[in-house]
Formats: sequence, C-alpha cells, structure tokens
Amino acid sequence: MAVSSWLASNRSPTARRILRVRGTIQGVGFRPFIYKAATALGLRGSVWNDPDGVVVDAEGDPAALEGLRLRILEAPPSRARVERIEVEEAEVLGLGAFRIRLSEEGRATSARVSPDLAACEACLAEMADPADRRFGYPFINCTECGPRYTIAHDVPYDRSRTTMSGFAMCAACAAEYEDPRSRRFHAQPNACPSCGPRIWVAGSPARDAVEAAVTVLRGGGIVAVRGLGGFHLACDAYDTQAVARLRERKRRGEKPFAVMFSELASIESETVVDGAARDALLGSNRPIVLLPRRDGSRLAAALAPGLREVGAFLPYTPLHHGLMRAFGGPLVMTSGNLSEEPIAAGNAEALERLAGIADLFLLHDREIHMRADDSVVRVVLGQERVLRRSRGHVPGAIDLGFHGPAVLAVGADLKNAFCLTTGEAAILSQHIGDLESYETQRLWSEVRENLERLFGVSPTLVVHDLHPGYHSTALARRTGLPLVAVQHHHAHIASCLADNGRHDRVIGVAWDGTGYGPDGTVWGGEFLVADLAGFERVGRIRPVLMAGGDAAVREPWRMALSWLMAAGMGPERIATPGGETIAAMIRQGVGVVSTSSAGRLFDAVASLAGVRQVTNYEGQAAMELEALAVTTEEQYPLPVVGGPLLEIDARPLIQAVVADLERAEPVGRISGRVHSALAGAIAETCRRIRERTGLATVALAGGCFQNRLLTEQAVGRLGGLGFEVLLHTRVPSNDGGIALGQAAVAAWRAVHVPGDSR
Ligand SMILES: [Zn+2]
Ligand SMILES: [Zn+2]
Ligand SMILES: [Zn+2]
Repeated sequence: MAVSSWLASNRSPTARRILRVRGTIQGVGFRPFIYKAATALGLRGSVWNDPDGVVVDAEGDPAALEGLRLRILEAPPSRARVERIEVEEAEVLGLGAFRIRLSEEGRATSARVSPDLAACEACLAEMADPADRRFGYPFINCTECGPRYTIAHDVPYDRSRTTMSGFAMCAACAAEYEDPRSRRFHAQPNACPSCGPRIWVAGSPARDAVEAAVTVLRGGGIVAVRGLGGFHLACDAYDTQAVARLRERKRRGEKPFAVMFSELASIESETVVDGAARDALLGSNRPIVLLPRRDGSRLAAALAPGLREVGAFLPYTPLHHGLMRAFGGPLVMTSGNLSEEPIAAGNAEALERLAGIADLFLLHDREIHMRADDSVVRVVLGQERVLRRSRGHVPGAIDLGFHGPAVLAVGADLKNAFCLTTGEAAILSQHIGDLESYETQRLWSEVRENLERLFGVSPTLVVHDLHPGYHSTALARRTGLPLVAVQHHHAHIASCLADNGRHDRVIGVAWDGTGYGPDGTVWGGEFLVADLAGFERVGRIRPVLMAGGDAAVREPWRMALSWLMAAGMGPERIATPGGETIAAMIRQGVGVVSTSSAGRLFDAVASLAGVRQVTNYEGQAAMELEALAVTTEEQYPLPVVGGPLLEIDARPLIQAVVADLERAEPVGRISGRVHSALAGAIAETCRRIRERTGLATVALAGGCFQNRLLTEQAVGRLGGLGFEVLLHTRVPSNDGGIALGQAAVAAWRAVHVPGDSR
C-alpha cells in the first residue's frame, strides 16, 4: 500500500460497502480492473462474480469507496457495459488485503458465459511486436477479448469446461493466468505458440499456412478458413470470376456475400460509412454492417446483385487479422456451408462438406463447441439495428423487466432462433436458419441443450407459432411439455415491446411476408392493438387471393396477377407462361388462399415494375425495389377505408403504378412513390386507431421494417402526427426476433393472467 493511502486510511473513519455491479461485465476483465482500482485506492476486501454480475465487498476510507464507485461508472474496461451499481452500507469487519475470489468458492458464484469478443487493441499490438512471445500468434487473447460462447460447454465458465481443456498452459502462460495484475488473469482461453492451438493447411506441409492460403486467394481460388463460430469461404472480393465461381460451387443463387476488410479506411473507400455505422463496425461483436456502395467501387458487382448495399466487416479473430494483413485487399467471407445448411465447424466435417467448394483448407485445432454465424446489422435512423443476431451477441440476455417461469419459445420456421427465459432474463439463441432441413433441426436441438445447460434452465412451458404446419411447432410438440400458441404478428409486436423494455398497450404495425392468421388466412399487413397479454386486429391491408402457396412467394408475378385482377385490370399484362392457369385459379377460387401480406404487395409492385419475376432468396424482390427507389414525398393514392376493421385499399395504388409504367416513368420514381404511399397509409391508419383507442404509441415490427426507406418514412409521418414510435434495435425485426415475443407473451400470461391455459 502506498504511504499516502495508508496515512489516509488511518486518519479517516473506516466504512464498508457492498457494491453490486450489473450489466455486461463478466468475461471482459472486470475483476482484475476492480482489483487494480481497489488496491490503488488503498481498499481492503474482495470481488467476485455472482449470477447477475459482479459484487465488490470493500472496506476503507469513505472517500476511497466513493472513488471506486466513480471509477466503475466512469472508466470501466472497454468491453464492459455497466448498467447500474447498487450500494449497500455494511458493518465494518476489518477485511484482509484486497483479493479476487474465484468462481469455485461459495455457491451462487457461477459466472455466466459471455458472448465472443473481437481481438482487443492490446493483444493486436503484442501480435504485431516481433519482440513479443506471441508475435504473429493467431490465438492471442486476454480477459478483454477472445472466444467465449463458441468454446464453452458448461458452467461455471472456466478452462476445464471449454474446448481449451486439452491444452495445458506452459509456465509463462500459467504465471499470467495466476497473476491478478495481468491482463490474462483467469483468461480461460489463454495460450501462446508453445502451448496453445495452431493452424495448418490440410494435406500440406506448408510452413506458413497463412502464406499458402494467400497464394491460393491471389490465384482466384477459394479458401475455407476455420474461424470462431465456424468456417468461412473466402475469395478475392475484387475478382469477379472468383466470386462467380464461389456462387456456383456454393449453389448460392444471388443472395449477397459479406466482405471482410483489413481496416476501417478500406471500408470507407468502398462504401459510405457514417458515425453509427463506424461504431457498429468497430464494436466488440464486429458484425457485418450493410453499407451503401460508393460509385466507382472496385468490389465485384456479383457480391450483391441488384442491391445498392454491401455487407462489410472487420477482422475479429487474430487469425483473420493475420490473413487480412497478408492478403491486403478485401475478401469475400461467407458462411462455410452449402446453400441453406448450417455452417460447418469441425475440421473433418468441413473437409467432407466443403470438398467441392474450397481449393484449400486453413484449419486449426481449437474446437468450436457452438456454431455461430456472423451477426448482421443495418443503420436505420442513425441507430444500429440487428438483422441477424448471432456471434458476438449470443448468449447475452435481454431483460424482460418482470419475473416469469422458465419458458422455451421455439421461434418461426425461417431465419429461426429460439428463446429461453429464466427469471427476468430472456436468452435468444444464435441464428439457426431455415428449419426445413434435417441438419438445421438437429442444430436447433443441439443449441437448445447447450443453452439450457449453460443457464441451468429447465423449461416448464413451450411456446410455438399458431401455424399447425410449422416445423418449429412440431419441435415444440416433441418436447412433451405444456404448450402455448402465440399468433405470429402478435409475437412480432411483443418482441418489439420486449426489445424496448416495454409492457404497455400499443398500436402494433406488423408487416411481413407471411404469418398464419387465426382465421386460417395468410396475414402480413396487420394493425393490432396489442400488449403482452393479447391483441385485437383493428386493421389490415385489403386481402387478395394468392395462388399456389409457397410458389406465390418465390414467384412475385403471381402476386402481380392477383393484384391486377383485384384492381379490375386484365391479367394479360403478366406475360408469363402459366399466367392463364393462375388467373383461372384466382377467378375460380381454387388452390388459393386469401392474404393481407405487405411483403406480397411489395412483390406485386416489383413484378409489375419489371424488377423481378422469380426470387431466389426471401425478400429479394422487395429489397431490390427498395434499392432502386428515389426518395420522394409524392405518393400514389392508397385510401384507408372501412371500420371497425380498417383496410388499406391498394387497388388504386396498383392502377396508378400501371398508369405510370404506361407513361414509361422510371422505376426508381415509381418505387419511391410506393414507399411514400405505404408510409402515409400506415400513419393514417394509426391516426384513426388513435381516435378510437387513445393509444399514442406505435410499434413497427416484422420483416418489412428492415426496409430503411419504408421505416424512415413511416417514422417521419407518425412523428409528425405526434406518435411515439418503437422500433427494434437489439433483436431482428424479421422472424429471427419472433421467439423473444413468443417468450414474453407466454411468460407475461403465466404471471399476469391467472388461470390462463392457452
Ligand atoms: Zn485482448
Ligand atoms: Zn503458453
Ligand atoms: Zn414474420
């Protein structure tokens, strides 16, 4: 202890305070930070993890105790997010020298597993230093960075329960691990070149594996790179032929590829990066950020055909940093899988599954326990919004704000993620994918078992979508537990409420492609008066008939035909083979279902405008229509009619679009007017619902609100009418976020709706 603080603590009265720190503070170097701060302030006592965060029991000069509280609030470790500190005065006991208590001591001290963290600046500096013993080491990490969720298979989180258990630390690493002053104090994945994991090229004795990979990439080849949550398939992002080859081999029609850049400046030279996007790119979860491509960008157009934006991200593992530095230019880094299968994670598995795709395999021997794809975000209205919540976010909890039973919400079928609740915490799984395939369903079960174990949750209630034919509904039934069904669009709105920490009744605008309505029709352009307990449908887009089920989703021209006929115009405007058959089906009402879907209305417009007749990924037609749009205040007629169920009648809009097409108006202007009209109709419908209900808050949710133009315009119009607007931020607005809403509804009903047995 320094003499000055020794004098201080002898002169002043001594106090003891217990500080309970809450937030994202485990696995980010928080206890060593407290240790250093407390010892510097001359305090005595200890610090430890508890299930809700970190607890500090400190004794000493009251001014020093206050100093510690301020340090925690004002200068915590860079990766920590302190939400609040509860301070409790306690009886002075004469505590011993300050120390860090370990997870093993005491009962409820099990540390939760935190999300994986991108390599920190301090580690990267060491990695770049030829004098450092970890110079160039692709697995360098510390308490503020490195793998967490993807390597942990049980709790409490320590090395023996991770895939690092097989690597015995060398003396130098062990000394760091034991030293409370070290950045690597209890850094569970701590390793170095002499004791830790290594990289190599499959079937090759190449001494420098990274250099071998770079040679293949320079020659236009495709390299499978084992990363943090699985394999990436990499190729030169400037090389049009390499990108085309990757598409062909991966059997990935036109779905966009993400691009990894070596540094922020390179992203800025190819795309437009604003403040919020920069923060997102540099965040410790290093997501893929969708950014507008600059004119004259050298990136291969085939990266994201038909779209104005490209998904860009920065390296997040030391291996990525090494690879990017050696290669120089941007690399396509897309999930290592075939089409819609789960991402490959094991070496043997990748060698088998990606055999026809990759020319070279860059492997390593730190096993990936949990697969996790890269997360995807988009900045809308100046704020980062998660579109795919996966690596770097999971298993971070979302606070429900109320205590409920342990619930498993199985999610929807597309973009599946499920949700577990325990107490007030909702834990959303990583992105699982499309439950159509057996492999994805198996992954679903694997992730579920893992999360239940990590959080010690045994669900007593299982929530599923109302859709009787969903694979997720079948998975729910298979659990044998009591079931609750929640309607798709109610779940979207509930998810938006939970994402915003709200429980009040709102006007919910749930717009997406498809969701099963309680009346057996396809919903998707809904206005609900909703809270967590229930909902009432008060408005919708006027339904039309949709012919041929899923085919109508893949083939937007079918919806164009439906809308033309509904608007009293001849179906012959759609000159597609099979058009007459579809027209006959609609006329006779055979093989059709009624739909109020907003997504299908977007499809119809995209088809009429000649943007796209057949899609090869979900939402493609609407995304391309948005990409073409010229922002305008002009709008097509789109009246809101009827009551008590209000209806947005899109027939005049369709007629006006056709008239503009006949006048050869540019597609971008037509698209702009459509977006503007839809935003206007949303605002007008909400205004009329407010007249009736007095509700002044609107929640916008569902896949359509990934559309920036629609969202910005709707928020603008609603704001102009004095509405408060809730949007998603932490959880996807698409079906990837629906499980949170399902869970919130079921947990709320179990607590607040006595005798509810739905
Ligand atoms: Zn680090
Ligand atoms: Zn070592
Ligand atoms: Zn949906």
